[in-house]
Amino acid sequence: MVLDRTPFHAESGGQDSDAGRLTAASAEAEVLDVQRPLPGLVTHQVRVLAGELAPGDEVTAAVDPEWRLGARQAHSGTHVLHAAVRQVLGPAALQPGAYNRPGYLRLDLPWRGALSAATRQEGEVRRMPLAEARRIGALALFGETYGEDVRVVEIGGAWSRELCGGTHVAHASQIGVVALTGESSVGAGLRRLEAATGFEGFAYLARAGTGAARRTGRARRGAARTAEGGRPQGRAPRRAGDGGAGP
Ligand SMILES: [Zn+2]
Repeated sequence: MVLDRTPFHAESGGQDSDAGRLTAASAEAEVLDVQRPLPGLVTHQVRVLAGELAPGDEVTAAVDPEWRLGARQAHSGTHVLHAAVRQVLGPAALQPGAYNRPGYLRLDLPWRGALSAATRQEGEVRRMPLAEARRIGALALFGETYGEDVRVVEIGGAWSRELCGGTHVAHASQIGVVALTGESSVGAGLRRLEAATGFEGFAYLARAGTGAARRTGRARRGAARTAEGGRPQGRAPRRAGDGGAGP
C-alpha cells in the first residue's frame, strides 16, 4: 500500500522497518514491512485483519509506540557502540555493516581488542548541507547514498557524529543499556559484534548475573564437599527458574 504521507520508518541504513496499524472506517490492517524502493516513495506491506481497504480510503496510520521506542534505543545504541569501538581502534574502524531492530543490534567491522565502557552523553539531530557535514567530520557510511541536505545525528557532540536517516532517542540515557552478547568472525578481518538493547539488554544482564551467581554457588558447595571428605551434600542442584541471586 502507498499512502500520501506516512509516519512509518522504511527499512534503511541498517534499521528494520516500523511495525504498527492502519485503521479505516470499517477496516484494520497490520503493517508487516515498509520499504522505500525509490526516493520519496514508501510502500507498506500489510495484512488486512478486518474489513476491506480500497484505493482512496482514508486511513489512520499509527506506529506501535513500544516498537518505535525499541527501534530508537537499538539504533542510537548502534551509534554509541560504533563510536566506542572507534575510540579504541581509531578512525580506521568504519562500520561496513550494521543491522538493528527493537532489542537487538549487530555491527560488522574490522576489530581486534577490547571495548571501552558505555557512555552517557547528550544526543542531537541536525540538518545541514552535505559539505558542512563533511567539514565537521560526520561519518558517511559505505553503501549509503546521500542527498545535498543531510541529517546529522550527534551523541556527545563530536564523539559520535554520523549522517543518518534513522530514528533515535532524544538522550543517550534513554537507550537504557547496550549489553554485548556476542563477538565472532564473519569473514577475513571482519568481526561481528552483537548486543541486546533497552529492556532486552537489562533482561540479558539479569540472566547473565543469575548464571554467575549459580556458578559461584556451585563452586562453594564443591569446596564444602572437599572439606567434609567428599560426602555428597544431599541437595538437589538448582534449576533455572529457582530464583537465586539475580538482580
Ligand atoms: Zn544511524
